[in-house]
Formats: sequence, structure tokens, C-alpha cells
Amino acid sequence: MSRVLIIGAGGVGSVVTHKCAQLPETFSSILLASRTKSKCDAIAAAVSRPIETAQIDADDVAELTALLNSWKPELVINVALPYQDLSIMDACLAAGISYLDTANYEPPEVARFEYSWQWAYHERFKQAGLTALLGSGFDPGVTNVFTAYAQKHFFDEIHELDIIDVNGGSHGYAFATNFNPEINIREVTAPCRHWEEGTFIETPAMSMSKEFSCPEEVGTYTIYRMYHEELESLVRQYPTLRRAQFWMSFSEQYLTHLEVLQHVGMTRIDPVEYEGHQIIPIQFLKALLPKPSELGSRTTGKTCIGCLIKGIKDGREKTIYIYNICDHQEAYKEVGSQAISYTTGVPAMIGAKMLIEGTWRGPGVYNMEQFDPDPFMEALGAYGLPWNVMDL
Ligand code: NDP
Repeated sequence: MSRVLIIGAGGVGSVVTHKCAQLPETFSSILLASRTKSKCDAIAAAVSRPIETAQIDADDVAELTALLNSWKPELVINVALPYQDLSIMDACLAAGISYLDTANYEPPEVARFEYSWQWAYHERFKQAGLTALLGSGFDPGVTNVFTAYAQKHFFDEIHELDIIDVNGGSHGYAFATNFNPEINIREVTAPCRHWEEGTFIETPAMSMSKEFSCPEEVGTYTIYRMYHEELESLVRQYPTLRRAQFWMSFSEQYLTHLEVLQHVGMTRIDPVEYEGHQIIPIQFLKALLPKPSELGSRTTGKTCIGCLIKGIKDGREKTIYIYNICDHQEAYKEVGSQAISYTTGVPAMIGAKMLIEGTWRGPGVYNMEQFDPDPFMEALGAYGLPWNVMDL
């Protein structure tokens, strides 16, 4: 029985709140706080039992610390934006509360994706006897746990890892992103980095692609190699990895729109003077695009996200593919959101459950693969994200 504070009332925040509300025996009281309180109230009206809501600017450490001290949660689930990670971690330390997020910190002014800023909090969380669990979404998150599960049960050594994120869904818009547009576009337009023989190699964004056929008739899609944050923690945790890559599917239409937006400067993250105001083009673009939290009713099709892993077992080469398939409309029927928010929000709830119930414990800052994958894998199936392993 415990109190949990969820910060962020977007697509992912809505799913986490629904899923936590479904488990009153674990999450006895829920406070949903975000920048715009009306969005928290709309989610509160849709969930299965009464929850509290509040307005909070999570960039303001003092304001957030005061809220934590007065409401006294056991855990903060941060599903606001990556820009808020450090201020929320600071407030958690000040108030003595454990922390969980789904995306690594990014400084607003530069699109840099790395864990160094958050790993630097390890000693402080350890000294305080608190846990910070980083990246408890799907990728990062479940993909880290899939890798840990594969290493534990199927391999003596893992040598190659390909994380493959396919969204076979369609929302019918010419251009929209499935999670926060600003964060999504920063990620997709960043140079690619992949791990090869002990170092990260940088290549131009979207310069490498191939076809990938998903199981269970989800279809064949073009996937593009890009950098994704879980590569950084996984290659550290599994030094036997010789190559680690991340791939994501994009439609021709999405990439064409993105290219034009880039060429005309609409994806810039630096301020531009416009009629006496400073505007940041990517933030203006975000205001024009469909909201990811409102795509649910019109998105059909399935996601298929998994890890293709090669290695050695008992002296013999072995390859497995471990994956989840999630249906956009099934997710919408259950919690009113499309599958990208669903596949992120469910693991955030499960990570919170692991910490609150003490299944995963340890003071300090941790990535998902550092804990025993088995109870998390069991919970995935039980709470809406069943998985499968193919021995190839
Ligand atoms: P949204 O943009 O839909 O929601 C973000 C929410 O955070 C909004 O409610 C927003 O408020 C709120 N917010 C922003 N700034 C502040 C602030 N300073 N103080 C308080 N609240 C704030 O994003 P998503 O729900 O799509 O994504 C949420 C997080 O999940 C992101 O960090 C994203 O990177 C991560 N993610 C992780 C994935 C994974 O698999 N690991 C996959 C997809 C997403 P307002 O509405 O007022 O703007």
C-alpha cells in the first residue's frame, strides 16, 4: 500500500495513471500533477477510481519539493519531458523520495542523449537510501529487460544486439508523431551512433536502412538505424557485446515531411526572432501538430518491438528474437490511448510496482537491466504486454 505521485499528463501520463488506478492494492493513493491542471482533471475523470490532481511546474525544484513534503509520496513517476529529469531528481533527494522515469535527461538547448548527468546522482541517492530507476518505458525499458532476460536464460555470452522498433500503425494524418513531437523529432534527426568493437561509431541520421519482417503477420517494414539511449547502458552492462544497434520503422511519407521541415528550418531548437518575439521553431511546430494523446481513437494496426540477440551457449552459436506485439485499438479500448503511449505507460507502472513492493531494491541510480528480469517479465504478460521468444 503506498502513495505515488505521477508528473506529466500527456499520452504516457494518462496510461500510467489508468494502470496504477487499476491496482489499488499496490498504489493506494495517486496524485497526478502537471503543468496544466485541466489535463490532469480530464484523466482523473476517466480512470477507474478517485485520484487527486495538482498543478506543478516541475522545473521549479523548490515548488516541487514543497509538494513532495506536503503530500509525502513513496515514489515519483516522472512522465513529463526529459528536460525535467534533473530538477525532479533534485526535489526527490531534497524530500527523501524514490524516483522513476522513462527517458534520459536532455538539456533543452542541445539535443544530447546520454546518461552521464543522471548517473552522476548515484552516490547521492545511495547515501540517502533512495532508488532512482531510469528508463522504465518500452525502449528504453522493456528492451533492456528483454536483453537481461536473454543473457540470464539463453546465453553464456551475448555478442550482437539489434533492438528493432516497428510501428505498423496508421493514424491517417499526413504527419504526426506518436509521442511528444519535440522529443521525437530531436531524437530522429540526431546523428546515428551504434556500438562496434568497443566504441560508438557515428554516421549521418537515417543513412542506413533495411527491410524487417515482423512475426505474427504484423508485416514487413523499412527500418532505419538510429541512436537510442539504452545502447549506452547495455554496452556498459554487457561488455561481451561486439555490436549493438537500434532500428526504428518510418514510412516514406513521414520521412519526406521531416526532410522538408528540416530544410525550411522548422526543426531548429535555437530561438529565432519573429516580429519582436523569440520563438523556437520546433516548439511552434509542436503546437501545430496533432497531440499524441489524441491519436488513440483513429490509430489502427500494431506495434512490434523486440530484441534480436546473437551469442554463444555451451560453445555453440545461438540467435533469439524476443518481442511484444501491441494492438493500437486494443490499447485504446482499455485505456483510451494508442499503443506507443500504452507500451510506455505499462512498463512505467510495472517498474513502480517493482520498487514499491520491494521486488527490485537497492539504493542508488539504476538502469533496468541491473535488476532481476524475471519478475518484470512475468508482470509484463499479466498487465497487458505479453511477449514471446523465437529460437532462430
Ligand atoms: P506529452 O507531451 O504528451 O506529455 C508531457 C507532459 O508533461 C504534458 O502533460 C506536459 O504538460 C507535462 N510537462 C511538460 N513540462 C512540464 C513541467 N515543466 N512541469 C510539469 N509538467 C510538465 O509527452 P508523452 O506523454 O508522449 O511523453 C512523456 C515522456 O515519455 C517523455 O519524456 C518521452 O520521452 C517519454 N517516452 C518514453 C518512451 C519509452 O519507450 N521509453 C516512449 C515514448 C515516450 P503540458 O500539457 O502543460 O504541456
